[in-house]
Amino acid sequence: MPYPNSLRNRFIITLSIMLVLVMGILVFILHQLMIPNLINEERQRAHVYANTLQKNIDHKARALSDMTYQWASWVSTREFMEGHLPDFPRTHITSAVFADHDADMMLITNIHDGVTWVAGRNPVTGEFTSCARPEGPCQWTLEQVRQIQRQLPVTDTTPHIGVSPEFTLLSTWPIARQGNPLLAGKLTLARFLPEQWQLNPADTASTLTLSAARQSMDTNTDPTAVDIDSTSDDSLRLTLVRDSATPGYQVMMTTRLDRESLRDGIERFNLTMLGAMGLLLALMMLMLWVFRTMVLRPIAELSRYAIALRQAPGEHLESPPPWLQARSDELGIMAREFQQLIHDLNERNAHLRALTNRDALTGLGNRRLLDRQLPRILSLTHRLERPVALLMIDVDHFKLYNDFYGHPEGDQCLKTIAETLSDIFQRESDLVARIGGEEFVIVLPDFDLDRAMDIARGVCTAMEAQCLPHEPSPTHRYVTISAGVAVSSPEHPLSGEALIKQADEALYQVKKSSRNAVGCVSPG
Ligand code: GH3
Ligand code: MG
Ligand code: MG
Repeated sequence: MPYPNSLRNRFIITLSIMLVLVMGILVFILHQLMIPNLINEERQRAHVYANTLQKNIDHKARALSDMTYQWASWVSTREFMEGHLPDFPRTHITSAVFADHDADMMLITNIHDGVTWVAGRNPVTGEFTSCARPEGPCQWTLEQVRQIQRQLPVTDTTPHIGVSPEFTLLSTWPIARQGNPLLAGKLTLARFLPEQWQLNPADTASTLTLSAARQSMDTNTDPTAVDIDSTSDDSLRLTLVRDSATPGYQVMMTTRLDRESLRDGIERFNLTMLGAMGLLLALMMLMLWVFRTMVLRPIAELSRYAIALRQAPGEHLESPPPWLQARSDELGIMAREFQQLIHDLNERNAHLRALTNRDALTGLGNRRLLDRQLPRILSLTHRLERPVALLMIDVDHFKLYNDFYGHPEGDQCLKTIAETLSDIFQRESDLVARIGGEEFVIVLPDFDLDRAMDIARGVCTAMEAQCLPHEPSPTHRYVTISAGVAVSSPEHPLSGEALIKQADEALYQVKKSSRNAVGCVSPG
């Protein structure tokens, strides 16, 4: 990455911060809003479930109570208590009765709560016994009988669960004498409950674990109260507390409710959050891609172009890439403005270049142009196996002219000479330059020495023919020129510098001996 602070990096950092922020917000929502809400819903569901359990227990108790009531209010039962139906236990209290009903034991007591009859199915052996006393084959009922006897003095027909010796659902109803409010005795039905009491065979979750606890003095148990313990992550522990048939004891009924809905809720939210994160990440990548394609790449291209522009060695500057200019957006506008700028710069450069290569007074080429062009002309012409001639021209006695006519007239004279030269040398390949005060150079590709000498003489004649008066001249009454000629041939090629030097030498020789004349240095 060439730029640590590149737009791409900044964009990625900004998007990452946004992503982290969104994640933070989502986690906050999960913890502060969603989970409490889910827990609340779970508690409500637990209460509804506890309510269903309560109803179920009450239903079982009521069924036992109804059955007890029927037995207690049955005429035959009363007659048995009054001594009229001594066969009643044998004929009516049969094993079939216990098999048909949800009851395990029956106890009939007299008005002093003494045992009149006891019958039931031994929970250990499964054997049915029916006796006048809890002895002999009914010995197994003794503890239960004592438990029932303990609560009999309390006049209460509400069924309760006794806790000792085993958990037993008990219901007691009075047996009334006929037409007499006095009791003939009491009838109790018992149903033995396992410690794992399954209320509904079809619903394994409805298993209650029964336990007994000593009742504190001031406790007045609310039969609808439910305690919800949510310390475990897997399940809720619901505890229902009931007064027991055993004085001083409470029955605790606990069950576990799976916290699946909470787990599902959290898992669903986590999945949603993960999905949202994935989506956001994908969106981020997409945005990055779009940003890269639409913005970063063109900007990088423009930057590269700007750097290349600064480092460009040539005077002609290249335009921005066409695909950038073709864009219809702001970057396209920028590229096109760049292009316009470059175009203007190129034009200005060309103009400046033209100015730097031109002699301001005569409009001919200058020394700079000669220095730049001569080597090129030499190599090009020699490559074509042709010679190049160079004429070095100097105005004769120009100092005297200047002194006599004045500097402005001298300038005018130089301009006339320049025009004369331009008229003579009209080939595109000819180079005419003013390289000093009153010195001119003419480069003639494809001119050998003879032709060059001829044309040099022609120039002298043409200049003379202009008839520019030169009164102070000791050699001629008109302005004349002298010329030195040198030639570089493919056989004896010279550098530009050497060619100029030779022509200058030839001119010097001419000047030494005469004026208005032409001289040369023989090649080789
Ligand atoms: P010769 O025949 O030996 O060349 O003598 P000359 O007087 O021409 O040579 P010299 O080098 O002594 O004088 C050159 C003169 O050219 C000197 C200067 O007054 C004049 N001169 C140089 N540049 C300019 C110019 O741009 N304008 C004008 N008017 N005169 C110039
Ligand atoms: Mg001179
Ligand atoms: Mg001169």
